[in-house]
Amino acid sequence: MTTTGCAPTGNILAEPRLTIDGKLVPSADDGVFANVNPATEEVIGQTYDATAYDMDRAIAAARRAFDETSWSTGHAFRKRCLLQLHEALGNHRELLRSVVVAEAGAPVVLTRTMQLDTPLSENLRWPAEMIDTFAWERDIGDSDLFGVHSWRRVLKEPVGVVGLIIPWNFPVETTLNKLGFALATGNTVVVKPAPDTPWNATHIGRIIAEETDIPPGVVNVVPSADHLRGEQLVDDPRVDMISFTGSTATGRRIQERGAATSKRLLLELGGKSAHIVLDDADFPSVLGRCAFSTCVHSGQGCALLSRVLVPRSRYEEAVELIAAGFARVPYGDPTDPAHIQGPLVSARQRVRVLDYIRVGREEGAWLVLGGGRPAHLPRGYYVEPTLFADVTTEMRIAQEEIFGPVLTVLSYEDEDDAVRIANDSPYGLSGAVSTASNERGMAIARRIRTGSFSVNGGVFHGADAPYGGYKASGLGRQTGPEGFEIHLETKTVAGTGTL
Ligand code: NAD
Repeated sequence: MTTTGCAPTGNILAEPRLTIDGKLVPSADDGVFANVNPATEEVIGQTYDATAYDMDRAIAAARRAFDETSWSTGHAFRKRCLLQLHEALGNHRELLRSVVVAEAGAPVVLTRTMQLDTPLSENLRWPAEMIDTFAWERDIGDSDLFGVHSWRRVLKEPVGVVGLIIPWNFPVETTLNKLGFALATGNTVVVKPAPDTPWNATHIGRIIAEETDIPPGVVNVVPSADHLRGEQLVDDPRVDMISFTGSTATGRRIQERGAATSKRLLLELGGKSAHIVLDDADFPSVLGRCAFSTCVHSGQGCALLSRVLVPRSRYEEAVELIAAGFARVPYGDPTDPAHIQGPLVSARQRVRVLDYIRVGREEGAWLVLGGGRPAHLPRGYYVEPTLFADVTTEMRIAQEEIFGPVLTVLSYEDEDDAVRIANDSPYGLSGAVSTASNERGMAIARRIRTGSFSVNGGVFHGADAPYGGYKASGLGRQTGPEGFEIHLETKTVAGTGTL
């Protein structure tokens, strides 16, 4: 970190400022941190590095906006503001596209879907429209308990101030999911972006401040290089809820620290999702595509399929078909629309992924393909598409989240064995089955302990579809009606006489 502040650079992608109480401001001490393009390793600009004082001000602003304005009760106003933001962000689509490619290393082709265009089209609109149809109040009938004749109503009210802690892998998608649902339900928020990907969030803060009627303090955006700014949100008693996406280790720390102030938690954590390929599946087509569902965005997706389970009787044939797909993965420069795999987000992540590849070799797995830094890409945090076969379920590379373009192939004896291996994981985020029979696929889906599951390539993502994990993959659901409800408190009111 330096303390020179942010001199204007003419780089239109840069938005170095914090958003606090409706104003775009530098950090209190003018400190900054570098934003690095992972495809070139070049510093593309600076972002103001929030201090503890800045975070404190942001929390105070969110608290005041919740306690002292009509944001929490004004349903129609909230809906109008969210749709206004939806439109404003759409007007800045190309700027946000360039930012997410430059700072996250996201392949531009992915910005046509999950990295940008899909969240821009639905993550604010869907919860905004839910405001009109949601049962904010319901009559549960009269009661004569204790001889008192009472009418009774159940009210749904926002939780309060929500801290949104964002990861770097799908930053716009995660931020808009969290913002849309937290705001539609009447909460106010403090957004803490990941240190590697601050500008998409600082731009969203600027657009809110400059182009919407969202009142000051309702949305605050506080970037920092220091993870402790996130922890400050977790510790502060003025914050009622934390909505976090990221690693299981950090999620567990948030659970521990959040207990001190009884935080409501929405945690979307890691995964090690298994793809079960049944013996009746179309092997060439299904196995040829395995590389895509592992290597897309360099494997930096929590629900990506990083284990594939194939029948032992057809093991060699299966490995050959998967390897052929891996050899064809188009990867490299993320601005090239042909590439589905770009760089890892940082040098630190590359070290981590290469370390897992070393562990896999030491554990005795067979490195079929890849395993190193690509010789033709000397700059950028790239790792080759990597395939491990002869993997057994107790190996670390079969159990731990690598978050890189690394697939592990395991074999199973029969369907029960496949289900057992798929479930033999601390995680429970997602999974998939490929089979000639959808009935067989659904029967497998019912037996897998995960929060989402794909049968024959079905897509479960969507603002209207609940998303989250079993076991170490998280707590609660974001998106869908469940993702709306989790941001609400429930109040039962009873009275006598007539209302
Ligand atoms: P992380 O979980 O540590 O960071 C995610 C976010 O949490 C960032 O905004 C970070 O600043 C914040 N944070 C970190 N420590 C915190 C704390 N103690 N209290 C509050 N907030 C805190 O993830 P990482 O270190 O960037 O990546 C490490 C690994 O996490 C990856 O290799 C990958 O396996 C996993 N990961 C998973 C996802 C996912 O979507 N499941 C996303 C990102 C990373």
